[in-house]
Amino acid sequence: MLKPSATNSKSMDEIVALCKRRGFVYPASEIYGGINGFWDYGPLGVALKNNIRDDWWRNLVECPPLDADGNPLQIVGLDSAIIQNPNAWVASGHVGGFSDPMVDCHATKSRYRLDHVMVYRPREGTDVHPSYAFMEGQPDSIAKKLKKATRGRDVSELFEVVALEDLTVADYAMIVGPDTKEQGTLTEPKQFNLMFQTTVGATGGPENVAYLRPETAQGIFLSYKNVLDTMRVRMPFGIAQIGKAFRNEVTPRNFIFRSREFEQMEMEWFCHPDESEHWFSYWKQQRMQWWQSLGVESNNLTLRDHEQDELSHYSDATSDIEYCYPFTAPAFGELEGIAHRGCFDLTQHQKHSKQKLEYFDQQRNERYIPHVIEPASGLTRGVLALLCEAYTHDDQRPSKMYMKFHPRMAPIKAAVFPLVNKDGMPEVAQKLHLELRSRFTIEFDAKQSIGKRYARMDEAGTPYCFTIDGDTLNDQTVTVRHRDTLQQERIGIDHVSEFMTKNILV
Ligand code: ATP
Repeated sequence: MLKPSATNSKSMDEIVALCKRRGFVYPASEIYGGINGFWDYGPLGVALKNNIRDDWWRNLVECPPLDADGNPLQIVGLDSAIIQNPNAWVASGHVGGFSDPMVDCHATKSRYRLDHVMVYRPREGTDVHPSYAFMEGQPDSIAKKLKKATRGRDVSELFEVVALEDLTVADYAMIVGPDTKEQGTLTEPKQFNLMFQTTVGATGGPENVAYLRPETAQGIFLSYKNVLDTMRVRMPFGIAQIGKAFRNEVTPRNFIFRSREFEQMEMEWFCHPDESEHWFSYWKQQRMQWWQSLGVESNNLTLRDHEQDELSHYSDATSDIEYCYPFTAPAFGELEGIAHRGCFDLTQHQKHSKQKLEYFDQQRNERYIPHVIEPASGLTRGVLALLCEAYTHDDQRPSKMYMKFHPRMAPIKAAVFPLVNKDGMPEVAQKLHLELRSRFTIEFDAKQSIGKRYARMDEAGTPYCFTIDGDTLNDQTVTVRHRDTLQQERIGIDHVSEFMTKNILV
């Protein structure tokens, strides 16, 4: 059953516009007309992204969770190369299998990922025809075509919605493609490899082809032996890595949800095969709690176990943590996958590299290839989830909305304003700014009316604004404005730093 969600009523168009206006996310190469599937993170966007990244790293590598006996788990960090020996991608199955089935449209030359296309198919016994295809989540894009076909009658009585992948190729002749008015223009599905290719070295040529990594995980398996040999790690232990990944996605869409260059935060947890089920449950629970600790409402998160036929080639079991994005609502879309990878990867790399990757467990006096549990999340997809979660309508404010970030995630933690840019106020404000900025990201702003400055900070999601006014010079107090309640109170200027420690580092 679907849970009620707080993000349902939010508009993606408004969120995308805010991201551009306030410097969270810009289209890449915009002055050249952009490039589909690539995005630049602006000053506020990179700050938000770094906050998520740093929290993940702290939560796993620097201050890892505890085991059932109350002892901290052992997790070490890694930053592996984006380009690796191409044989690694043969072993991992990406050269042979990392592909999506796709259909092309003869008429428009558009290409669609098969599992992203849905179809309005006439119900039996009705007089309507043909079928109309649309991109999953975007039924409005064919509203006009349907209106014409139904001549004002109820669409759901005349048509049923089915997935294109559930139809046979013979049915395609009856289908009008998502972006055309003709029927029968869709081709039969073909496999398309998602890895970006490049050549290494000056000579080029097919023998020098290499790939940009489509996931950070494989770099961890490639360094597994070195970590074992050089660090004092023992089973069970984890290796964590954050970095860029590249996939030549057929249909990049939904803003930064599915892009061609993105960032991942992945951890491979190595353990004895007998303990893998225990750790699989453990990590599912830990990861849900972590997303909630960033201020994501539990109503907007769900944990979904994959059906047997959905599992990837490497996985014994997978659960996704899903978020209710405005474009999936009331349904949920993937935010993080937690996969039980068994011993697939290390076995493959052992076979292809001919290097022994077994572990000798002294406590058990046993040699084995460890099993792996992998919590794999999208950092940039996490940015999107936090942006959607924070976006809050409020007609009381000049900005009509504010970004309700968890204080720890807010790109700017506080702003310091002199009420007017004279009478000694700027000097006092600047002094406070300099005092705070060594510990927090602080904005100093002396321009425009105070109302406009508050409105800018509401759009940036800054939890607190400190204003220095005439009274400050007499009684050493400042006004604190609380973003969420709009409440204002006065506190001593000497207590601002302590106030920040108490309210931001929560
Ligand atoms: P999907 O089924 O949506 O293509 P996936 O299951 O292949 O995704 P994984 O390989 O499990 O994704 O990658 C782990 C995480 O990386 C995902 O949960 C997601 O947050 C993120 N991710 C994957 N592909 C993209 C992308 N193209 N753009 C942004 N983030 C992505």
